[in-house]
Amino acid sequence: MSENLTALAYLVASVLFIMALRGLSSPESSRKGNIYGIVGMAIAIATTVVRPDVVSYGWILGGIVLGGGVGTMIALRIKMTAMPELVAAFHSLVGMAAVMVAAAAFYNPAAYGIVDAEGVLKLASRIEMGLGVAIGAITFSGSVIAFAKLKGIMTGNPIVFPGQHPLNALIGLVIIGLLIGFAAEPSPVLFWIMTGLAFAIGFLLIIPVGGADMPVIVSMLNSYSGWAAAGIGFTLENTALIITGALVGSSGAILSYIMCKAMNRSIVNVVLGGFGGDTSAAGAIRSDRPVRPGSAEDAAFIMKNAGSVIIVPGYGMAVAQAQHSVREMADALKANGVKVRYAIHPVAGRMPGHMNVLLAEANVPYDEVAELEEINADFSSTDVSFVIGANDVTNPAARTDPQSPIAGMPILDVDKSRTVLFVKRSLSPGYAGIDNDLFYAESTMMLFADAKKMVDDIVKSL
Ligand code: NDP
Repeated sequence: MSENLTALAYLVASVLFIMALRGLSSPESSRKGNIYGIVGMAIAIATTVVRPDVVSYGWILGGIVLGGGVGTMIALRIKMTAMPELVAAFHSLVGMAAVMVAAAAFYNPAAYGIVDAEGVLKLASRIEMGLGVAIGAITFSGSVIAFAKLKGIMTGNPIVFPGQHPLNALIGLVIIGLLIGFAAEPSPVLFWIMTGLAFAIGFLLIIPVGGADMPVIVSMLNSYSGWAAAGIGFTLENTALIITGALVGSSGAILSYIMCKAMNRSIVNVVLGGFGGDTSAAGAIRSDRPVRPGSAEDAAFIMKNAGSVIIVPGYGMAVAQAQHSVREMADALKANGVKVRYAIHPVAGRMPGHMNVLLAEANVPYDEVAELEEINADFSSTDVSFVIGANDVTNPAARTDPQSPIAGMPILDVDKSRTVLFVKRSLSPGYAGIDNDLFYAESTMMLFADAKKMVDDIVKSL
């Protein structure tokens, strides 16, 4: 394949990756987006494999069969709720790959065509290699910790110790110094000290982050893995890898920003804040205020006689896997002439798009699902808000209490509807660890039960 043809094929693959990202931005077009991504990746791999500088097909084939096989098996088995930890595990591999490629190129630069006329590693390549290996190592160890926290192998609580932030800052500065030193004189000692310190800083940066903040961190590490890949792309002089890495890097950064904004936090606050560990301790918060408990029969009666119902799903619906039952309930209500819609908060659940994915899995029609800004004004003219396993995303304290940890976070205005039905097992708080005044409001009926069990009972009553 000529250089021009290769460049053209890589360009086509890159355009397909951009179209894939565009498609993945909505549940309706996400399948198409996935297909664009698959075709783009197939073109990129095929173009690389037929290049004349490939010396052995055995290793490449072995890698594709082994990696593809393991990947397929994992993808088929993984549960939706375990997706963030899987993504973290995959990012660690990207980070390690970046370190390995940089090390291989460092020890055999001539094979990568990155030496000057005197056979010395080019200055630009030293800088790219240094950055690639540092970002790759941080991505690897950070992702391993994120995986361990999400999987529960390690405590989800923030691990903090005195002098942590100054120590991190010092290591960061030393790494920058070593990067400059490596660019001036590419010695193996500098290369490996820099790599070792980058592994250490990845570990130290992520241990103080609370388990529940991990999705933001995973998205941030996703961004790092993209930049690490772009770094390798420069080392290998591979334009497809540079473009793909930049796409992953920038989309991960944008996603982290969107998540932080929707939670009204800053990324610095997430990394330094030690907020949102296990909520079991905070779960001890109990109020003496009275609540109005109800049964499945009460809920069925109220909703059957309503003109309109808005269902607000949250993390508890995912835990209980109640989405199919919720759809059955909605179908039964619609059969009774009730107008049913779903309201999705941008950070409901524990990962972006969590609720959209669950509702799509239960075949809920897309036109019944509305995002916060589309539906929020309609709550005041709605008879019933059916809040299932959601808590923080409905908490009016975000609007009324400037001292609240969620102050300023946009919330779904369920308190403005005529009646609020709250399905949860107890009065325990959600992720933010704070009480919700709405539990005690006159218009609220608490339906204490596991989300799936309660909805199944409501369906029976309907
Ligand atoms: P919350 O975490 O506020 O509340 C979930 C509620 O579900 C809990 O109060 C719990 O109450 C209930 N619950 C748990 N299991 C069950 C069950 N089996 N049956 C019934 N109820 C159950 O969830 P929200 O979705 O409202 O809010 C998401 C929170 O996560 C926000 O604070 C957001 O900032 C944060 N977050 C979101 C991210 C994202 O990308 N989506 C990323 C990081 C954080 P009980 O124990 O009484 O049953």
